[in-house]
Amino acid sequence: MKKLTCPTCGAEVKQAGGEYPVTFPFCSDRCRNVDLNGWFTEAYSVPVETNRVVEQAMDEINQKRSDPKSSDGTPFLN
Ligand SMILES: [Zn+2]
Repeated sequence: MKKLTCPTCGAEVKQAGGEYPVTFPFCSDRCRNVDLNGWFTEAYSVPVETNRVVEQAMDEINQKRSDPKSSDGTPFLN
């Protein structure tokens, strides 16, 4: 039979009386909460991460615009 492990701590999740624990696929409530918190943290961090990437891209574009010698050497006309 396939051994199931807790996604949070990696401990084996054992069946008790042929039933998986109510916290399945986690080994315990604690691990389940850790995972939930992780998801929430990740969800919150997504917009921040996106903004950071966009800001970096904008910085690159602005740098190219302010540097007339970049890319094809044609000054950026605005
Ligand atoms: Zn666990």
